[in-house]
Amino acid sequence: MLNGIAVDTHCKRIANRLGLSNEKEPSKIEQDLLKMFDPSDYKDINHLFIWHGRYTCKARNPLCNECTVKHLCSEYKKNF
Ligand code: SF4
Repeated sequence: MLNGIAVDTHCKRIANRLGLSNEKEPSKIEQDLLKMFDPSDYKDINHLFIWHGRYTCKARNPLCNECTVKHLCSEYKKNF
């Protein structure tokens, strides 16, 4: 079991867009995320953020209309 959530560029972007964290510093974003998820899920969360950021919630052209979590997303609610 992991002790933390790796906040890389994908995780940072997605956490901010979804509204899971309004912080900009990775360590603060991680603290917000750690409060939301069970430690047994940290490993899966890491993978989910990477895959979601790589293939759907891309930095430049996020595929919001195809996104399976758009109903939960702050950014989506602002823009559509
Ligand atoms: S709706 Fe768009 S901005 Fe929100 S998580 Fe999905 S792809 Fe990212």
